[in-house]
Amino acid sequence: MGNPHVLVIPYPAQGHVLPLMELSQCLAKHGIKITFVNTEFVHKLVVNALGTEHDVANSIRLVSIPDVNDQIEEIFLSMPVKVKELIEQINASDGDNVTCVLADNFLGWAMEIAVDKEIKRAAFSVIAATASVSVSSIPKLMEDGIIGYDGNPTKKQMVQLSPFMPPMKTSHFVWVDHGVWKDQNLFFDYSLRNNRSIELADWVLCNSTYDLEPEPYNLNPKILPIGPLVASNRSGNSVGNFLPEDLSCLKWLDQQPTQSVIYVAFGSHTTFDQTQFEEFALGLELSNRPFLWVVRPDIANKLNDTNLEGFQDRVGSRGLIISWAPQQKVLEHPSIAYFFSHCGWNSTMEALSNGVPLLCWPFSTDQFLNEHYICNVWKVGLGFNRDDGGIITREEIKNKSDELLSGENYKANTLNLKEKLLNSIKQGGSSYTNFMTFVAWVKA
Ligand code: UDP
Repeated sequence: MGNPHVLVIPYPAQGHVLPLMELSQCLAKHGIKITFVNTEFVHKLVVNALGTEHDVANSIRLVSIPDVNDQIEEIFLSMPVKVKELIEQINASDGDNVTCVLADNFLGWAMEIAVDKEIKRAAFSVIAATASVSVSSIPKLMEDGIIGYDGNPTKKQMVQLSPFMPPMKTSHFVWVDHGVWKDQNLFFDYSLRNNRSIELADWVLCNSTYDLEPEPYNLNPKILPIGPLVASNRSGNSVGNFLPEDLSCLKWLDQQPTQSVIYVAFGSHTTFDQTQFEEFALGLELSNRPFLWVVRPDIANKLNDTNLEGFQDRVGSRGLIISWAPQQKVLEHPSIAYFFSHCGWNSTMEALSNGVPLLCWPFSTDQFLNEHYICNVWKVGLGFNRDDGGIITREEIKNKSDELLSGENYKANTLNLKEKLLNSIKQGGSSYTNFMTFVAWVKA
């Protein structure tokens, strides 16, 4: 066996590239050679956002494979062929053959390639262990008549995957409300096939801890938590952004009183309809607190609507709007009071690792499950009620904002979880131990 050399393959989306890049940097720190492969489009975004002042290239080799316009074709057909070719090319030209494939849990075909090449294989899940387990439980859910053969719930109900796990709404299973691919059947069929391929993995790692979700690991013992994967644990910066981070917001945060600022960010791809967007902006204004709001370039034009005329003048220097935040650094900042979030799993882990309570505005996929944990299991945040027209009103936004800040338990519960999460990644902690066992296996 040669030097350990891991080929890391993320699903081509922001919320997948960032945590896998973090994991890659942790592995590189242990002397493991990393080749990180993105599709060409994503590779260019990442390299562009990195700019020149970074040292990632010293520890990780960033490479790309050609793009295909159609996303489904890319993930099903093109990526597997190109990844296989890349391994052959590296093995033919490089002194260090690829010894292990570490791929996104949603790219099960990478495990098949690793079997074919007779190398080690590990999968990494970017969603909560509970959400992963719900996907690996699909055959059982079918057997129990909870979902049909097309993946759709046979009726709307709450189900528990085990007696100790919190109830989930069947309409919120990730394959039912996935919001990513237009064709739900295709997504479900792919998930079924993916489940089988992932069984070939030697390891399935996830960005979570036993403290957050004690039970799912009993249902699928192969899943091992190594989280929270946060850059502060390496005393480093988060790498793998698709957009350049606007670091000037940190200076603005320095000028705000402790625990006064609402941080608003809805991840990398959520979009609002115009009516709700306007109502949201007016709710933020009504909340009457300083806010830092990430309005990505793909939704920025909604701010120019006539109904929002004067919004920026009225909020003045109380509000700062930027295109992309250095989110982990923002959440570490003492001026942050709470996080208005879509409850993506990375965002959730980053908030909890910094003891920041959440206001939950989930859109799709696992975000509803995460909201359920945040509000009802960990009790570190609040969700919203919609009016008869399905809108979250500005008054509801203001009221929940006040409630979150006046209820002392939310902050106390979040700080309590923060301590547990940080202990798990310290030497001797459970995530640390799982990670080090994984490192030893990669090196063996
Ligand atoms: N993020 C960021 N700056 C922003 C908004 C988001 O760095 O302005 C990062 C955030 O820290 C997180 C990721 O983008 O790591 C989003 O992942 P998440 O799972 O929360 O949501 P997704 O985009 O996958 O829906």
